[in-house]
Amino acid sequence: MPQTLAGTYMRLSQNKKERSKFFQGVEGDSTWRFISFLQKISYYATVFLLLLPLCTSVWSKVASSQVVKKISIKREKENHYVLCIDFDEKVSFVPRIHTLPCGLKILLSFGSDVEIPPAARGHSGSVIRGLFFEKFSSSSLMFVCALRENVTFISKKYTDHSIKIEFLVNKKHTVIIDAGHGGKDPGAKSIIGSYEKNVTLVTAIELRNALLRSGKYRVILTRDRDEFISMEERVNKINSSNADILISLHTDSNDDKNLRGLSIYVLPSLDQIRDKSDIEDIQNYEKIRARSLRFAKNLTRYIPNCCRMGNRSCRDGDLKILKIGIPAALVELGCCSNKIDSELLHSKIFRAKTVKAILYALDKFFER
Ligand SMILES: [Zn+2]
Repeated sequence: MPQTLAGTYMRLSQNKKERSKFFQGVEGDSTWRFISFLQKISYYATVFLLLLPLCTSVWSKVASSQVVKKISIKREKENHYVLCIDFDEKVSFVPRIHTLPCGLKILLSFGSDVEIPPAARGHSGSVIRGLFFEKFSSSSLMFVCALRENVTFISKKYTDHSIKIEFLVNKKHTVIIDAGHGGKDPGAKSIIGSYEKNVTLVTAIELRNALLRSGKYRVILTRDRDEFISMEERVNKINSSNADILISLHTDSNDDKNLRGLSIYVLPSLDQIRDKSDIEDIQNYEKIRARSLRFAKNLTRYIPNCCRMGNRSCRDGDLKILKIGIPAALVELGCCSNKIDSELLHSKIFRAKTVKAILYALDKFFER
């Protein structure tokens, strides 16, 4: 055979039938066993080269699961915090930051697929409730920093491998909610047979829940069950609460069965007060009264249309519960001697509107 081994190999590899016929004749020949060995090597090399990109992508996925190197939160001053996140790999886009009532959400995009890093829970004394990630897309993560307090976002600084976010933890204001009457003192009986003490309690609890949900307030109730509290006990509770504002809840009653609507009592000017001996902070009386009036006027703006009371909405009340030395308002949630109001006071939807109005009025009142 005049052909070179290389030439024969080339020709035979192109024609399978001819090759197998040829190999039958040369089986056992050491030269052809060597050619067969070379052929196998070439086959495995081709398979390896074809699978290489896939191997690389699997490897990079495993490597990129460790994207977050370190998360730290430092308290710079009293209520000033700095959150730092360091990454193992380059963050490809500018991180987008959303502030929540009680936290921060940051959208992070990476150059390749990422896995979800583990969540972490803050200890009970910490401002941090928890840190966790959500998958936004295969190469982006939503980082959520849940806080126990409401925050104001100040600034963000970022490099390819880290983000620094500064925020202020807002001071929470304390609201004391006084559910009128209770226990052996049922308050006014409505035209549909219900008692004032029950309407005030359910509304107080719903208002407390809404204020806590907002993340902006600490809330104290003078009572959270059907129990009798004397006026002296109520006043003592308010005085020891260190609250910023008092909201006392009641329902109105009138001989005129057509009279309806929500109204708010605030202390009158000092010269109209009959008994001045029980005023807690007489020096600041007018200042406190002006602030109380400001809250009441805010509230009248947010009262739902179905319970408007026209000119009667803001009223003077020479009442002991309002003389406690902090801004205070007594809210008559509706007129229980009126059938429409009585039914509304038992509607969860209606109460939710009133609660929302009080929350808006408080937000406005504490606005800087
Ligand atoms: Zn009452």
